[in-house]
Amino acid sequence: MPDLTKQFLKRVDDARDDLIALTQDLIRIPTVNPPGNDYLAICEYLDRRLKSRGFETELVRAKDTPGDSDKYPRWNIVARRTGAHGGDCVHFNSHIDVVEVGHGWTHDPFGAALVDGRIYGRGSCDMKGGLATSIIAAEAFLDTWPDFSGAVEISGTADEETGGFGGVAYLCEQGFFSPEKVQHVIIPEPFKDRVCLGHRGVYWAEIETHGRIAHGSMPFLGDCAVRHMGAVLAEMESSLFPALARKRTDMPVIPEGARQSTMNINSLHGGQAEPEPGFTGLPSPCVPDRAKMIVDRRFLLEENIEDVEAEIVAVLEKVKSEREGFRYDMREIHRVIPSMTARDAPVVTTVSAAIQSVMGKEPQYVVSPGTYDQKHIDRIGRMKNCIAYGPGILDLAHQPDEYIEVGDMLDSAKVMGLALAEILTGETPLKT
Ligand SMILES: [Zn+2]
Repeated sequence: MPDLTKQFLKRVDDARDDLIALTQDLIRIPTVNPPGNDYLAICEYLDRRLKSRGFETELVRAKDTPGDSDKYPRWNIVARRTGAHGGDCVHFNSHIDVVEVGHGWTHDPFGAALVDGRIYGRGSCDMKGGLATSIIAAEAFLDTWPDFSGAVEISGTADEETGGFGGVAYLCEQGFFSPEKVQHVIIPEPFKDRVCLGHRGVYWAEIETHGRIAHGSMPFLGDCAVRHMGAVLAEMESSLFPALARKRTDMPVIPEGARQSTMNINSLHGGQAEPEPGFTGLPSPCVPDRAKMIVDRRFLLEENIEDVEAEIVAVLEKVKSEREGFRYDMREIHRVIPSMTARDAPVVTTVSAAIQSVMGKEPQYVVSPGTYDQKHIDRIGRMKNCIAYGPGILDLAHQPDEYIEVGDMLDSAKVMGLALAEILTGETPLKT
């Protein structure tokens, strides 16, 4: 092993206390989204940290994106450290938002207690631990190889948990991610010793059935929109769901159950709205004149979105042909095209080799069942050389008593730093 590599690995181990403190500080800023709390506070914290280590920083507010307001501004930070010579830019992108706390915690969700080598808190593994790890990795790399070529970038971005429009999507639109500016992207989501190549696609639609209001004692004088929607559900059960289950993918999606097309009925509303809390009266007798359903369809690289839409339309048209008075509308509300980085892309092979040299085994290559910010980097940023890789256990994300292991973070910092060395220095510490 070359001396510099040894020096680097020691430098990471020596940063253990710093890594713990940094992770704890980040968890203690409760950036819960929605609504998007404390984005400016966490960006200012990161700004101080990264400036003190020689990064040039930029705070970017995604003005007028979904959720942005003066009360809850969508702040992002992008930090860059440019090397002494020209070369590639490696970018670590972490989201700064966390989901709601939920119930069932035995630790303070924003206390960031360190117990037996684990730091507990909302966002610890998803993904403030990953953010802290990338910072420690970059700092240790810069200390070890100050004469590097190219650039290291670290971003902290808003709103990943709610679609990323005020975060990575906005930065892509502003030119922060483009093949000219950034050549390698690592998103430190919790995949531990696996490399995540991409994600399935998403198609969300709202389906509405129409009826006619009448007195509930004489429903034959009206037309019940809820019964029409029931017919839609029955047709989905008999034809669409079995067809989706038969569509298998070659994408290495985890868990195994998601290695097919899926659809979730996200919500169903029909008839009178639920009464306000505290209202003790009875409902009034009416035939519902409309019902609405939102479907959340996840699709595969092997499918195209036009067919995904057409399959749902076919269900509705079949019901229409069989059912008197059936009228419907369908409206697309969200779409994401599937993304999968090639197995031989440079960032994949480099990080894989680094995992091998730190952890002594080849990583598993996986695809995420749900999407994350890679979708924007691929589609808007036109950047294909992107993966998710970082410390922590994916299953703990969004759960009570979420935690991150300090040991995991140290391993991952070594992987990230060796990947930087491989790409940004002439040396190839991995091959020895
Ligand atoms: Zn995440």
